[in-house]
Amino acid sequence: TPPPPPSTVLESREEDPALRPKHMKEMIGQRAVYERIRVAVDAAMMRGEPLGHILLDGPPGLGKTTFATCIPRDLGVELQIASGAALAAPKDLLPYLTNAQEGSVLFIDEIHRLPKAVEEFMYPAMEDFRIDITLGEGVNARTVNMNLRPFTMIGATTRTGLLSAPLRDRFQIREHLEFYSEEELTTIVLRNAVILKCPIEEAAARKIAGCSRGTPRVVNNRLRWVRDYATSRADGEVTLEVADRALAMSRVDSLGLDQQDRNYLETILRVFNGGPAGVEAIAHTLNAAPDTLTDEVEPFLLREGLVVRTSRGRKLTNRGYEHLGQTPPEEPVG
Ligand code: ATP
Repeated sequence: TPPPPPSTVLESREEDPALRPKHMKEMIGQRAVYERIRVAVDAAMMRGEPLGHILLDGPPGLGKTTFATCIPRDLGVELQIASGAALAAPKDLLPYLTNAQEGSVLFIDEIHRLPKAVEEFMYPAMEDFRIDITLGEGVNARTVNMNLRPFTMIGATTRTGLLSAPLRDRFQIREHLEFYSEEELTTIVLRNAVILKCPIEEAAARKIAGCSRGTPRVVNNRLRWVRDYATSRADGEVTLEVADRALAMSRVDSLGLDQQDRNYLETILRVFNGGPAGVEAIAHTLNAAPDTLTDEVEPFLLREGLVVRTSRGRKLTNRGYEHLGQTPPEEPVG
């Protein structure tokens, strides 16, 4: 069966379609990555050739899907979206490959979750736009070669380290997305407040940006919450005072950490005496999946220097102790 039309897939996973930039030039931040991709996109358009395959990695919510949807729109080509977790066998990938029009984009999210067999099936598709299909079974089995129309694969992953080298090497462009600065997130808040028709003070926008973990998805969620609060508990305008009250009510702290982040830090402090503790053990205590901690919770806490990763596990830093209102132990930590 052919995959569902890409638009349906995207809409069903879309948090707020109005807030997602439509074209790359509307994207804020990630300038170096943007410039490099722009060069490749412009060259592909000028030569009338398909764009080279692109791999994007970085923590969730930093714009991988946004890049993957803006690039084909800028190129004026079709987009198909698939998820690595849903492609269990080569036959699941086959319709996407055979449907791909010349120069179109196939976006595979969570590409690190592809099973080995699907990954290997993709190698010739990516390199030579050709696939080998086995027909029949046992002694009657034969391999048929099929040519594909040249297309562009965009892969997204939270951790490039999880990809095999042969897969990684088949992407001509590999880019890592970093957390956004407070300045960039403030610009996103101000832009999106206009789209949401929400009057907002600049100081309030800055406040929301400062407690959004360097992440556009989080900044959008916080903005929506503060806007709801302003509508139902104030006169609709997001002033600094309204933003402060709304954020305090949702238990977002001064660094922008939420309850899940604080539970993680508290577990290392109270259950593991400040660490070191293995991520599996922490996950077990929190009743969470280790991957969720590694991919979603830890990157920002590591960047903020609240925890460190050591060969024996995660440890709270002095800053981590202080953030929890505790005195750090005598011995220097980290
Ligand atoms: P995941 O891996 O969890 O799917 P992601 O990295 O693909 O995350 P996106 O879905 O692209 O993240 O981004 C989340 C939301 O953040 C988007 O809907 C969009 O509104 C906003 N966003 C992301 N990047 C930018 C940007 N550069 N400028 C403005 N808004 C952005």
